[in-house]
Parts: sequence; structure tokens; C-alpha cells
Amino acid sequence: MHQLLDEYLCKKYPKIFVERNMPPGASCMHWGLAINDGWYYLIDNLCHNIQSYIDNPPWVLKNDGSGLYEPPPEGTTTCEQVVAKQVKEKFSGLRFYYTGGDKYVKGLVDGAQRLSHYICEDCGEMNWFVGRNDGGWIKTTCKKHARDLNVFKTNVDYEPELAEVLKKIKEEGPVKKKPLTGNLTLFEAMFGKYEEDS
Ligand SMILES: [Zn+2]
Repeated sequence: MHQLLDEYLCKKYPKIFVERNMPPGASCMHWGLAINDGWYYLIDNLCHNIQSYIDNPPWVLKNDGSGLYEPPPEGTTTCEQVVAKQVKEKFSGLRFYYTGGDKYVKGLVDGAQRLSHYICEDCGEMNWFVGRNDGGWIKTTCKKHARDLNVFKTNVDYEPELAEVLKKIKEEGPVKKKPLTGNLTLFEAMFGKYEEDS
């Protein structure tokens, strides 16, 4: 990741990235966020969700039978602080290794890792056309950033039933209704503009 983005994220989430400036032997975080810029928001959102969960213990049921909730007692903690041990790409997916946390945090991390397979690691593009090489250097990218187009397959190519659904949508023709914002509809973005660009 670009050094300035790396520095920014470490400043934004100092508790999670507390090991960022440790010597190489002490923590893998010494090497920084070993991913490309396209996954910036994936990491930013993951860290935001983790830290706000830790910093905001849930309200507790009042003891007076009213059925109402009140803020938790002073000093209540949700779970142990999450500390990132290593952030990298492996087999085309995000890997976020950490200590601390609980089952909820594990769910957040699992979700981000799963989602990474649908987001170009180079530019952050996320759509039907993101995929990975079918051999050699496996990496999640859009078509534009594919390492080898000869063996590049989109995620849809790996999911024939979804490909059929998209084919049907395409056969129905472009969506006529103009969106109020004047932006492209999802359909136009996926099937219209993209083809012009490629
Ligand atoms: Zn890309």
C-alpha cells in the first residue's frame, strides 16, 4: 500500500496498528500493510467496525423490571483490544491476522476477507468483471489490471448460474427509466459503459 495511505490508516487506528513501528523481528506489521491500494476501503471499514465495537460496549438491561436499557457500568469492556499482527494478500484474498477480539470480530474479519475476492486489489473496482488468473500468479483484479488476460476469468465465469441470470437481464435490454441523480444505473455501468471502455 502507498506509504502515505499506510501511515494514514495507522494514525486513524493507532490501537489496532500499535505494532506498525516495531522492529522486523518483533512483528510482521513492521512491513506495513502488504496489500495494494484497491483494498484501502476494505481495511478502513474493517478497522472502523472493529474499533467502534470495542469502544462502545452494548447497553445493559436495567435491573428494575422496566424492560429498559441503560449504559454499561464504567470500565465495562466488549472484548480484548484487537492488535493487527500481519495484513497481506494470499491466494488472491485478504489475510488479516490479529490477536484479541471475540466471535463478533472474527465475523467482521471473515466478511472482509471474503469480500476481497470481489474487489480489484489495484484500483478498488467492484463489479461482475472482477476476477482472477486461472493459473500462475493468482490475484484479484479487474480486467484492466489482470496480470495475464489469457488466463483471466471473472468471478462470474466461476459461477455459471449467476452468468445465466446476468445473460437474461442483458437480453431484457437496457433499463429505460432514467435515475433521478443522472448517474449510470447498475445495468448501464455493468453492460453499457464498460463495453465502450474496454
Ligand atoms: Zn483494477
